[in-house]
Amino acid sequence: MIRIENVSKHYGAFQVLTDCSTTVSKGEVVVVCGPSGSGKSTLIKTVNGLEPIQSGRIFVDGTQVNDPKTNQSKLRSRVGMVFQHFELFPHLTITENLTLAQIHVLGRAKDEATAKGLALLDRVGLKAHAHKRPGQLSGGQQQRVAIARALCMDPVVMLFDEPTSALDPEMVGEVLDVMTELAQEGMTMMCVTHEMGFARRVADRVVFMDAGRIVEDRSKSDFFDRPESERAQQFLARIL
Ligand code: ATP
Ligand code: MG
Repeated sequence: MIRIENVSKHYGAFQVLTDCSTTVSKGEVVVVCGPSGSGKSTLIKTVNGLEPIQSGRIFVDGTQVNDPKTNQSKLRSRVGMVFQHFELFPHLTITENLTLAQIHVLGRAKDEATAKGLALLDRVGLKAHAHKRPGQLSGGQQQRVAIARALCMDPVVMLFDEPTSALDPEMVGEVLDVMTELAQEGMTMMCVTHEMGFARRVADRVVFMDAGRIVEDRSKSDFFDRPESERAQQFLARIL
């Protein structure tokens, strides 16, 4: 579903990604981890075209992301993305946040968009909050709204970039629970996270990055039980 082939990227002389290759099959959950500055956010943002690359190729559901002929807004509507900061529109209600892109990007009628938004809000356990504004919700609730908003677009894959790292500890679990349910329902997911408990429970594979390279790309049991590289061993020793 996602294929990243020999992707490199640099900012001037600084090489941020070097020859990165990996795949995420349909229904698979891949966790991306590694030290700060290793290129995790950059890599995940190349998948929906938010970060241009200088060499290599990226495919999502057969469409080449880094092809000038690809319709980027159409592609992005099929790739759900949830960031560390929820990025809901603060002046809009939760319902309006959930329907805006459905109406303006997908051209759905308002009634249909609202029904879909409310159904997904219910699925993340927040139906009672539809009329509120983001500022009236907790961080964990806002992040669940952000996930529902991404799902409103019927994405073929979901990308997560540290969705719980800005949350108070007691709210992390509720967001990971929603992500776990999504995974169990068969969503294809690529998740940058340091939540190794989530990775152990939910991931199929773990990609470990260091200094812009994919150093390990293994099944989760191999990664956790038998990390090959010294960098991954050090990382796990520190984080677990
Ligand atoms: P973190 O765990 O802190 O989120 P990360 O693994 O997500 O880190 P990236 O944000 O992908 O790392 O950044 C990788 C490297 O690229 C870092 O050294 C960063 O400073 C550099 N970088 C990111 N964006 C730019 C930019 N626009 N211009 C120059 N360098 C950049
Ligand atoms: Mg990052």
